[in-house]
Amino acid sequence: MAQSFKDGSIVEVAIVGAGIIGTATAYFLSKAGISVALFDKGRVAGEQSSRNWGAVRQQRREPAELPIMIESNRIWQCLERELEADLDWQQQGLMRVAYDDKTLSWGEDWLPTARDHGLDTSVLTPKQVGDLLPHFNWEACKGAVFTSTDGCAEPEKVAPAFAAAAARLGAQVNDHCAVTAIETKNGRASGVYTEKGFVAADVVLCSSGVWTSRLLKPLGHRHPSLWIKGTAAQTEPAGIEMRKLVAWGKAAHRQRPDGSLTLAANEDGYHDLMLDSLRHGASFIKLAWQNKDLLRFSAGKPLLQDLKG
Ligand SMILES: Cc1cc2nc3c(=O)[nH]c(=O)nc-3n(C[C@H](O)[C@H](O)[C@H](O)COP(=O)(O)OP(=O)(O)OC[C@H]3O[C@@H](n4cnc5c(N)ncnc54)[C@H](O)[C@@H]3O)c2cc1C
Repeated sequence: MAQSFKDGSIVEVAIVGAGIIGTATAYFLSKAGISVALFDKGRVAGEQSSRNWGAVRQQRREPAELPIMIESNRIWQCLERELEADLDWQQQGLMRVAYDDKTLSWGEDWLPTARDHGLDTSVLTPKQVGDLLPHFNWEACKGAVFTSTDGCAEPEKVAPAFAAAAARLGAQVNDHCAVTAIETKNGRASGVYTEKGFVAADVVLCSSGVWTSRLLKPLGHRHPSLWIKGTAAQTEPAGIEMRKLVAWGKAAHRQRPDGSLTLAANEDGYHDLMLDSLRHGASFIKLAWQNKDLLRFSAGKPLLQDLKG
């Protein structure tokens, strides 16, 4: 995948980070005829973008983000053809099963937002849940919120497919090549220093995920972000066919075409306390308080590593 570049190359846009954001941006810019160099310190999609659940979700989005998710869903429906790649795209809907009244009413409260945006979301009775999920202990549930146009895809495949398609259009894709600093001139980004040399650019896009605040700090930009760990695991192929994307109580699953499942702990998040927790914590107090039942904190190795510098 990696293409070499000459020290001193010039591109219109340098992109730091080849996750889903960096690779998709590289593709669409290249398609528009803009010259791009994409860099990742590791492999393409080596972090969040290959380890997530793979849900393409419109359900229960904030009203402000719903239009962009509806547009995104429309793009997803043509993406395999556009990228000439198999992405395991499945559009079977997202079902969120509720085992208590609070969860169900939280789904019901969202229905007017869905209706306002013309989104096909409904609340199912336990019997309707059973019809769609015969293998589940549906009698124990209170119902479910179901958005039939939600979908899922294989994260391991999507960002690499974007990167390959961008490369076919002429983008320089440089994996295993960290950006060590961003150069600025007259208050504007003017290029990136990388492990393999300097590349001048009119625009630098930082799509470096959890590392973004560290990359921007030397430029004097504060970008508050803290790391929250989520859990996703993969099973062997299950002997039964299940619906592709279901969140039930404290867990969720996505079934792949080979029958194996991505299993995830639904909503729980773990935060390792670090020096950044002190630097950026104030920006997240309200959010942490709203989610206090779901968040766990620990002080261990990451804090020690941080203190050691
Ligand atoms: C457990 C879990 C489940 C999730 N489930 C879903 C889901 O179902 N649906 C959904 O839409 N989203 C989900 N998400 C969120 C989604 O995965 C992320 O929003 C998305 O992957 C972020 O993509 P990104 O490109 O911004 O960042 P990343 O994928 O984190 O990519 C950033 C890249 O930048 C690179 N990088 C960093 N610093 C440098 C540097 N200095 N030089 C070069 N490269 C650098 C990194 O190596 C990395 O590859 C989930 C996330 C988690 C953790």
